[in-house]
Amino acid sequence: MKNMRQTFLVLLGAVSLATMAGLAQTASTNATKPGDKLASLFPDTVLAKGKGFEVKRSQLDDEVIKIKAQYAASGRTLPPDQADMMEKNILNGLIQMELLHLRATDADKAKGKEQFEKALQAVKDEQKLTDAELDEKLAPQLRLQHISKEQWQKQQMDQTTLEATIERELKVSISDEDVKKFYDDNPSKFEQPEMVRAAHVLLATQDLKTKTDLPEAQKAALHSLVKAPLVYSIVALRNWRAFSKLGVEQIYAPGSYHPLVKLNAKVDVGSYRSSSAPDEPILLRMVRVPCKPGLSEHEQNKAGRAELLATPFATFEHNIRDQLSRMLRGGGFDPATDIEAITVNRWPHGYAPEYNPLWDPEVPPQQRANVLGRAPFGRMTIANSDSGAAAYTDSAIDQADRAVNELLRPQG
Ligand SMILES: Cc1cc2nc3c(=O)[nH]c(=O)nc-3n(C[C@H](O)[C@H](O)[C@H](O)COP(=O)(O)OP(=O)(O)OC[C@H]3O[C@@H](n4cnc5c(N)ncnc54)[C@H](O)[C@@H]3O)c2cc1C
Repeated sequence: MKNMRQTFLVLLGAVSLATMAGLAQTASTNATKPGDKLASLFPDTVLAKGKGFEVKRSQLDDEVIKIKAQYAASGRTLPPDQADMMEKNILNGLIQMELLHLRATDADKAKGKEQFEKALQAVKDEQKLTDAELDEKLAPQLRLQHISKEQWQKQQMDQTTLEATIERELKVSISDEDVKKFYDDNPSKFEQPEMVRAAHVLLATQDLKTKTDLPEAQKAALHSLVKAPLVYSIVALRNWRAFSKLGVEQIYAPGSYHPLVKLNAKVDVGSYRSSSAPDEPILLRMVRVPCKPGLSEHEQNKAGRAELLATPFATFEHNIRDQLSRMLRGGGFDPATDIEAITVNRWPHGYAPEYNPLWDPEVPPQQRANVLGRAPFGRMTIANSDSGAAAYTDSAIDQADRAVNELLRPQG
């Protein structure tokens, strides 16, 4: 009973239910989730079948994801060799839950209902909540789990019914004192890694143990990783008749203020329909990489960044109207009537620098600036896509993984 109340309190505190509760829920929930539509495209294989029940792949996957999320939330990672074993254990747990559900008698169900109602009332009394206030507190969690209040109530009652069934079948009776003793006797089973919340992080570039500063060569390597600035100007057009007439969808114009001009891709998703006829409005993306020809690549990036910070919107607008008018005039384009709105998105630190054989020294990969720059320094490790010398998100993820693993290695 006390455990049940704690479960409610935890739920109201916006934390998901415990694993066992999760297993019980999955075994008996038929809630419709947004993913169900997608799932209907792929067969949901039956992993285990018994008299009057079956366990499906989606149930197992849901539980595995929940447990992995719990690991991640407490800052732990599940070693790969334990993941297989965990799947087997969860599947066994799901089968046991289904078998127990089948053994629940009417008396177990009545007891489960009574215990649920008592626990709910205790929470309302303890927190002095009206029914409406309780609903308000529950709502965010229910939304998160994509279930209605009725489905939640059924899940909770299934769980308390399970407890009643286990108690009767195994003739076990665990008192609050027994629970307390178990917690007191097994503190290591409930340990959690230390967690802190910080508003600011200061990086010391001096190793406090050795009193040495970040080596000059490493500082120079880090300074040399200059990100490229980037501009996406988005122009809302009232129609795309000129593009249709000229038979173009995108235009490369090296040397122009925006060298790439491209109509929004045709993407129909759900009820959203993109522009399909030339008389309909559309968005146009214009890409600019500000730079200063004549300088080295990284110096061009710095000059481009300075230009971005100093350029008023009016300059962008003037150049956009001028460029589109010159490019599309043959198709009847008139900037005064065809342009509805313009937004300019500026990234002073856009793409991470990649190895460029035109400028960068020809050295073995392990001597490149990104590798020298990301060397661990005391308890400091360095991530970010530039330490992977690749601009895209996969590089950022790989580098974050590397940096975190460097921290987890035993320190000498
Ligand atoms: C316009 C644009 C389009 C892109 N499109 C794609 C794409 O389609 N596909 C793709 O894979 N990648 C794309 N990328 C690249 C992708 O965004 C990056 O690879 C990724 O975001 C890099 O992640 P990161 O964590 O290394 O760095 P970031 O996402 O840049 O995060 C660094 C964070 O550190 C913060 N920060 C910086 N300095 C300090 C400081 N001194 N103190 C505190 N905080 C600081 C920044 O504010 C930022 O939040 C695009 C990038 C841009 C700019």
